[in-house]
Amino acid sequence: MNVYDSEIIAALLQEKGLEEVTSPEKADVVLLNTCSVRELAEQKIHTRLGQLRIIQETTNPTMIMGVVGCMAQNLKKSLLQKKPYITFILGPDSYRNIPKILTSNRTSSRVIDTHLSSMELYDGLFPARHEGINAWISISRGCDKFCTYCIVPYTRGRERSRSSESILQEAKRAIDKGFVEITLLGQNVNSYRSSSGGFSELLLQLAQLSGLKRLRYTSPHPQDMNDDVIAVHKDYYPVVCDHIHLPLQSGSNSILKAMNRTYTWEHYLSLVEKIRSAVPTMSITTDMIVGFPGETEKDYEDTLDMMEKVRFDAAFMFKYSPRPGTKAAILVDTVPEDVKSVRLNRMIRLQNKHTLEKNQALIGKKVEILVEKESTKNPYEMMGRTSTNKIVIFPALKVKPKDLITRTITDAQGVTLFSKP
Ligand code: SF4
Repeated sequence: MNVYDSEIIAALLQEKGLEEVTSPEKADVVLLNTCSVRELAEQKIHTRLGQLRIIQETTNPTMIMGVVGCMAQNLKKSLLQKKPYITFILGPDSYRNIPKILTSNRTSSRVIDTHLSSMELYDGLFPARHEGINAWISISRGCDKFCTYCIVPYTRGRERSRSSESILQEAKRAIDKGFVEITLLGQNVNSYRSSSGGFSELLLQLAQLSGLKRLRYTSPHPQDMNDDVIAVHKDYYPVVCDHIHLPLQSGSNSILKAMNRTYTWEHYLSLVEKIRSAVPTMSITTDMIVGFPGETEKDYEDTLDMMEKVRFDAAFMFKYSPRPGTKAAILVDTVPEDVKSVRLNRMIRLQNKHTLEKNQALIGKKVEILVEKESTKNPYEMMGRTSTNKIVIFPALKVKPKDLITRTITDAQGVTLFSKP
C-alpha cells in the first residue's frame, strides 16, 4: 500500500514540475512515507530520519524533510516536537496538499495535516510508476474491521471503495504502459463494494482486460471471502492467479475473539477446503501473530494444530507488539518476551517444514513462470514467479522479462524452486 501511495505522491510532485533524483544529497525535498503497523517499522523511520538529518547538516542544508503516511497520522505533534528539522507532517488522506505546501511555504513554517477524510480515494490521479512487471492498484482505502491489535482503522480512517470505472481506467493505462501483472490492494481488499458490484464483479471485469497476463490481490479478510470470488478464481485461471494470502492470525477461537477477527478456526478451515476443492493447485499463505495478550500454551498449540491442518505454502509470522491507541494496547501483555520468542521460533520451524514439503511436491511438475529479471546471484540464470507466487530460478536462455514460459521444476530449497536443464 505504501509503494502505491508513494507512486501517487510522486505523480502529484511531477505534476508540479518536480523531478525524481537518485539520492537525498541531491534532493530539494525528501519525503518519508511511513508505516505504523508494527513497532519495528516505526523504529526504522526514526533511524532513517537520523541519517537524513546528518545529510542535511553536512551536505544539503536546504533540504526539506516531510513525514507522511500512517506514522505521521499516528504520532503527529510529538514527531515534530522531537524532530524540529521536519518541515511537515501529513496523514494518508492529505497528500494532495504536498505541492501547495512546497510552493507556498518552502521552509518558513511547519505544517501538520492529519485530517482523515471519508471521501479521499485519490481518484483521477495516475500513479508515477517505474517501469516493471507488476502494477499495484489500490481499490479501496481505510478499514472498518477494527481488529483489536491493529492501528490501521485509526491511521487510515473508514473504509471506502473507488468506482470500478476509475479502477478499470487505471488498469488499462498500466497495461498500455507495459505492465503485465496487476495486484489489487486494499486494507481489506475483498470487502470492496461499488455501485457496479462487489469484489468478485470487479475481479471478473479486470480479468477480461486484453494484455493482462496475471491478476492478484492482497489482503482479503476471511469473513468477506465468498463463493463468487472463489468461482472467479476457478473460471478465470490462469489470469486470476491460484494464490490467496488469507490472514489467519491465530488458530484459537478465544484469541480470534479477543482479536475481534470475526471468524472461527472452523470457518477458516471450511473456507480453505472450499477454495482447494474449487482450485486444487491454489497456494494459500497467511499472517500469524504469536503472544497476543491472554494467549495460553493451549491457544498456541491450537494454532500450530491449525497450521498442520491447513499446511500453508508460506506465512508471515510475528511476535505481538502493542500499538498505542488500539484496544489491545490496554490489555495486560501476559506473554513474556522470551516465551513469545520461543513460540515464534517453533512456529517458523514448522512453517519452514511445510513450505519445503509443499515446494518439494512440485519437483517433476511443469509450472508456468512469469519471467521477472536476471538472478542476483548468477548472470546466467533468471528468476520468475509461478502463478502460485513462488520464486523459480532457471537458465537465462532465450527468455526476457514479461515472458510467460513453462518449465519443469527440478529442485526446491526453502522458499525457492529451481528448474535446471
Ligand atoms: S482487517 Fe483488521 S488487521 Fe486488517 S487492516 Fe483492518 S483492522 Fe487491521
